[in-house]
Amino acid sequence: MDLSKISGLGFVGLGAMGLPMAGHLAAKLPENVRIFVYDINQASMDQLHQDYPKRITKCSGAKEVADKSEVILTMLPEGKHVRLVYMEGGSDTICSSDVSGKLLVDCSTIDTASSLAVKDYINEKFPTTSFYDAPVSGGVVGAQKGTIAFFLGCDGNDKNLPHVTRLLQLMGKEVIPCGGPSKGLAAKLSNNYLSGIIAIAVSEAMDMGMRSGLDPRVLHKVYGAGTAQNTICDRFCPVPGVYPEAPSSRGYTNGFKVQLMRKDFGLALDMAKRVGAKNVLGEAGYATYDGASNDPRCKDLDSRVVFRYLGGNEDWQKDADEATASKLT
Ligand code: NAD
Repeated sequence: MDLSKISGLGFVGLGAMGLPMAGHLAAKLPENVRIFVYDINQASMDQLHQDYPKRITKCSGAKEVADKSEVILTMLPEGKHVRLVYMEGGSDTICSSDVSGKLLVDCSTIDTASSLAVKDYINEKFPTTSFYDAPVSGGVVGAQKGTIAFFLGCDGNDKNLPHVTRLLQLMGKEVIPCGGPSKGLAAKLSNNYLSGIIAIAVSEAMDMGMRSGLDPRVLHKVYGAGTAQNTICDRFCPVPGVYPEAPSSRGYTNGFKVQLMRKDFGLALDMAKRVGAKNVLGEAGYATYDGASNDPRCKDLDSRVVFRYLGGNEDWQKDADEATASKLT
């Protein structure tokens, strides 16, 4: 599918991620390409239409989007929504339109089984249609800035790779072909399992160091210079006030919601089970994110709020200042 020749692009799912991603397409696609959008939430369609009135057409459902577009992107919460929008939603699905020869890309983070079920259904009904999983990493801020990474479920020799890469790079930076169908998702889930485990480990290590009298800024330097160096501590430090741009330093807002981490962590554990991989840290990790998701002090906040959930001292700076003041008096 040569993207320079398309006249209609569809986008279903204009949430926290989908809305800014569709906004980048509206700002950057060649002028002749019209964008057809659908979301069950009318307000997000209205917002995009208001921002790009000449470019965006609001549709009444997934079928209308598919009828009018040669390339269709979806960005939905979970596997059940993706199955619904592509094939299980009765007469209003992407596959209730004739999508022969079209290019379909699902950017949602879902279970690999749902993604493969959708792909099999499409392959059977429309043998000339291409469907790819392309989950993203980089969060809402990355989607707004256009810096997200895509993990693409295809191999490096896929005939559509150059076109799909060019399309995805309008919304992000790096596009990594991961080897074949559903492997973009497998890569994303194993990445989030790892980053979720690291966030818990950093929180615990910081907490024990701080309780032993260490300044968290010193610990941050120590880990950075030593064998514990990792991006979560460097740039997403769970302890507030250590790294100014980390979500923790602005009240754990504007980050990757703890409930989303619980979802991805659970999906990763299901995948591990299915493929027979051992996870000694899995159960404890899931229980931590589940507990934090249900804790009113942590719910809806950035997942690195596990530091708070595990009882870390967020007021360390104030306590240190008070200790210094009392020594001086
Ligand atoms: P969101 O809940 O903000 O948005 C999902 C959108 O889908 C909503 O606007 C909702 O109305 C719409 N929707 C649901 N069912 C629909 C249907 N049947 N038809 C049409 N629209 C429908 O979620 P999000 O934060 O944008 O996340 C989307 C996906 O991206 C998830 O799988 C998430 O795990 C993944 N992701 C999120 C982040 C993040 O930081 N938010 C980062 C990376 C990946």
